[in-house]
Amino acid sequence: EKLKEGLTKTRDNLTQKVEAIFNFTSELDDDFFEELEEALIVADVGFNTTTAIVEKLKKRIKEKKINQIQEAKDELKNIIVEIMRGDKNIDIIPPKTPAVFMVVGVNGVGKTTSIGKIANFFKSRGYKVMMAAGDTFRAAAIDQLEVWGQRCGVEVIKQKEGADPAAVVFDAIQSAKARKVDILICDTAGRLHNKKNLMEELRKINRVIEKEGRDFYKETLLVLDSTTGQNAIHQAKEFIDVADVNGIVLTKLDGTAKGGVVIAINNELNIPVKMIGVGEGIDDLQAFDPEMFVDALF
Ligand code: GDP
Repeated sequence: EKLKEGLTKTRDNLTQKVEAIFNFTSELDDDFFEELEEALIVADVGFNTTTAIVEKLKKRIKEKKINQIQEAKDELKNIIVEIMRGDKNIDIIPPKTPAVFMVVGVNGVGKTTSIGKIANFFKSRGYKVMMAAGDTFRAAAIDQLEVWGQRCGVEVIKQKEGADPAAVVFDAIQSAKARKVDILICDTAGRLHNKKNLMEELRKINRVIEKEGRDFYKETLLVLDSTTGQNAIHQAKEFIDVADVNGIVLTKLDGTAKGGVVIAINNELNIPVKMIGVGEGIDDLQAFDPEMFVDALF
């Protein structure tokens, strides 16, 4: 329900247009495909992904000899689900514990908020959780994480502003081991404009995790802001260059008509979207489910 509500703007922008195209079409002809293409592109599905979807739909209609509009629409939904799911592992639940999540992303995308929500997500499922304030560049980020820690009853390991992020993560791993924590979530600085420093910093944190957290399952999550539309994809590519990203958290889907970007991200990056943010509240982060997403949209 929250997902449905969160996707209102995208529904107004994308779904209504798509619905209209299907409703006012009597034939699955070139005009129909052109209009569909346009509607998808306008909703930030992106050129490449739109082309892939429309080509697949044309092929499917031919193969299955579809001539009913409603059947074509169901097929469109199937294709979007297939494109989003691929053969990627979308599960946010780690296959084993203890696990350490490193969370990366540019300032302002909703990284700190998402870390707080992820901590709450796991805590409410019975895991023992800890957070590490690895964005030592901004004092506000440390304070903000502390507030989230209090809100969801999760301990935050921190040092002073300006401290070495790798040292914070080192401390956090020792504490996590001592306290038998299941899931440790580490914040990191989001200064992409200084790519060389960021790369160094992430590398150093990684070395600490490899060495001290040998027994931990490791996951790197990249947080992207869906309101930036296609730019989120460019940003993702920058981060994929410097970090071993294996999951994406897509925030602010509630505030945007560009929800089509979820489809594009899933298609164009070989990294699964694992969680989506649909509001500012503590429970407004959901495990991503392609079927549920498409059902909420159409
Ligand atoms: P950071 O700089 O990346 O750590 O970003 P913050 O976590 O401070 O978030 C920036 C702003 O985005 C805050 O006002 C958050 O409440 C807001 N925000 C984060 N995620 C979501 C979301 O899913 N939906 C909405 N509407 N706002 C969000």
